[in-house]
Amino acid sequence: MTETFGRGDRIEGSLIGGAIGDALGAATEFESLSSIRRLFGLDGLTDFATAYGAEGRFTDDTQMTLFTAEGLIRAVDDTDRVVSIWQAYLRWLGTQSGRSDGSVSGLAAEAVLRQLRAPGNTCLGALRGGVPGTVAEPVNDSKGCGGVMRVAPVGLVASNRVEAWELGCAAAALTHGHPSGWAPAGAFAVMVWSLCEGGSLPEGIAAGRDALADEPAAGEALAWLDRGITLGTSGCLDAEGIDAFGQGWTGDEALAIAVACVLAEPDPHQCLLLAVNHSGDSDSTGSIVGQMLGAAHGPHAFARQWRERVEAADLLVRVAADLHALVVDEK
Ligand SMILES: [Mg+2]
Repeated sequence: MTETFGRGDRIEGSLIGGAIGDALGAATEFESLSSIRRLFGLDGLTDFATAYGAEGRFTDDTQMTLFTAEGLIRAVDDTDRVVSIWQAYLRWLGTQSGRSDGSVSGLAAEAVLRQLRAPGNTCLGALRGGVPGTVAEPVNDSKGCGGVMRVAPVGLVASNRVEAWELGCAAAALTHGHPSGWAPAGAFAVMVWSLCEGGSLPEGIAAGRDALADEPAAGEALAWLDRGITLGTSGCLDAEGIDAFGQGWTGDEALAIAVACVLAEPDPHQCLLLAVNHSGDSDSTGSIVGQMLGAAHGPHAFARQWRERVEAADLLVRVAADLHALVVDEK
């Protein structure tokens, strides 16, 4: 694959790829491997299948990723980005109520996003609580993967590793208080940042691992990531191997499974299918894998049939362009 594309392609690729992985996994999220095979055949899911009423529909993972992007886009300057992301998540919460007072603007006004797609209880509960959590003052003890699955935009616009780490952790800690909830988000943002800088997938993963290793509270997440790296480089990874490894409902496991898939399977199409055909949190592992592959290879790494059929592709491209403008404006 010739790497002749720029940051804008990586940003668009990451948002599109994440949505594709999410939409694939939407059909398998709550199914065991045996029931996936019963439903879709021995090879498991190989294409979009109907979930939430149609093929190609994404879930809360992509919704919240887009609101992270909107938080970054609407921030007045670098100092208020975490506050702006919190406010964006509150607007996402508003989309989940089913009510509209007509005063909303931006993403919250998009009918395609005002849909219930199995939103995470931790995110809903923390946002309803009205108090933004921080790394220093955790709002709960959740290690759910709702933090890591939504922070890719932080890595897409970060200008350095420290910024990606700190903002990734802070954005996740708004709703997830356990280090295994927020630290993998920081590490994932660093991975995405590194890929945007032109790093290879192994280099990006190593950069995220280094950041995690520097965080004393993140020992559990580091151990999971190291096991994921070992699994992904062990030679042969299949659905049974993922099932024996973990399920991905927690942030540390989700990132470890995604990293294992990315390291084990070089073909983006097959890699996404590997990430969603297991018994665990398939839409989140699919999202994270798609976000990494898109940042590494751009949108054309994904089959046109998926790029064109994924829900709200035009909206994803528009938000990607707005995110890219943030990076361009800095230069
Ligand atoms: Mg989901």
